[in-house]
Amino acid sequence: MPEQCKVDMEKVVSLCKRRGFVFQSSEIYGGLGSCWDYGPLGVELKRNIKNAWWRAVVQERDDIVGLDSSIMMHPQVWVASGHVAGFSDPLVECKVCHLRWRATDLNGKRCPDCGGELTEPRMFNLMFKTFMGPVEDDAHVIYLRPETAQGIFVNFENVMTTSRKKLPFGIAQIGKSFRNEITTGNFIFRTREFEQMEIEYFVKPGTDEHWFEYWVNERFNWYLSLGIKPENLRLRRHAKEELAHYAKDCYDIEYLFPMGWAELEGIANRGDFDLRQHAQQSGKDLSYFDDETGERYIPYVIEPSAGVDRSALAFLVDAYDEEVVEGEKRVILRLHRDLAPIKVAVLPLSRNERLVPLAKEIYGELRRYFMTQYDDAQSIGRRYRRQDEIGTPFCVTIDFQSLEDNQVTIRERDSMAQIRLPIKGLVETLRAKLAGESFATQPLWTAKGTGAVDQ
Ligand code: ATP
Repeated sequence: MPEQCKVDMEKVVSLCKRRGFVFQSSEIYGGLGSCWDYGPLGVELKRNIKNAWWRAVVQERDDIVGLDSSIMMHPQVWVASGHVAGFSDPLVECKVCHLRWRATDLNGKRCPDCGGELTEPRMFNLMFKTFMGPVEDDAHVIYLRPETAQGIFVNFENVMTTSRKKLPFGIAQIGKSFRNEITTGNFIFRTREFEQMEIEYFVKPGTDEHWFEYWVNERFNWYLSLGIKPENLRLRRHAKEELAHYAKDCYDIEYLFPMGWAELEGIANRGDFDLRQHAQQSGKDLSYFDDETGERYIPYVIEPSAGVDRSALAFLVDAYDEEVVEGEKRVILRLHRDLAPIKVAVLPLSRNERLVPLAKEIYGELRRYFMTQYDDAQSIGRRYRRQDEIGTPFCVTIDFQSLEDNQVTIRERDSMAQIRLPIKGLVETLRAKLAGESFATQPLWTAKGTGAVDQ
């Protein structure tokens, strides 16, 4: 297993900025630490990640339903969950340069910046506080949620009753979370505002270990199914001492990022901690009546908790590739077709007035079905490279021969192979190829002579 990521973070960051995936937030004012904005391509990538997750965990299953709970919640929620008392990291400050660090990141070393001596650690609560309404006093303090999970627990009863679900069943939610992290960094890996994709899967006590194992496998395979290379993904089971006080068991799915192996998703067996806590604090009965056995109990819960931004970083790093083609460097994002921000690029061979109407017509048709880009600037080779760099799986090239034979060239990103196909039925063809049909179902066609060659 390689212990070193082959991709340089700087290259990914630079591509993200250059091509409009991710920008520094408030850049014209000098930026805001650890905050990032997703540009036109980044927003598509994130949307595709969220859609792929939703499809896998909600749409294609009978036992999970969705939820979108509010970011601001009753402050008692965070008392019950343990966040007010315990969601803290040990903070140390350098006595010389006054930079602050998370003590657990330093292993007892001196200030990583200047080598200065550090203060004793003090606990720092990671929840962002604000006030609800015009009065800024303790009675009006509320928190920005540090995880989406609690919105699910407090809706357990509502969702179960209205969707008439029986155990085992789950609730899935995607949304923003906020943590006032002491140290942020590694681009979009650790930020103070981020998006999570979380499932709370409620099960009968005693079946929890089975379901825990099930979800660890399920979630691990999800990343592989979207193209993450197996050698860059691993599972790490938490040691007993490392487990949160409420967790019975926990696995991290780790990815080999440029800075090393780090958590991409956590899957925890949380027992009945959360529902029991909320039942106690709210005085509401959150138990489940099992009408098959006549038993009443508080369900156990398995929680697969993933980060959208961390996933985006992992998919970008994993997809980044460089190769030399005919003496020139080709940068490619080998993104899975479901994740690629743009699915098809329509490229007229030139801006010749005879080609443009047909190219525009094809573009108008394709964009109804796929995220499509039209590009007629510079040479065809340069345009292919531009699409390779943003991960577009297919380019459709319209040349002069197209005017005669009503066919176009389709070029595939990874192999650069080209096939010639009728314009009629193009949508269906592309749809099949975007759903995974092999590219070379027809004999490979050589594009020489049409001008659509890859150079
Ligand atoms: P870490 O140990 O990296 O701080 P954690 O164990 O606190 O993470 P969880 O509470 O398990 O993280 O959160 C679940 C997921 O949410 C993480 O696996 C990660 O993908 C995402 N996540 C958590 N904190 C952040 C953050 N500050 N920035 C970006 N994503 C985050």
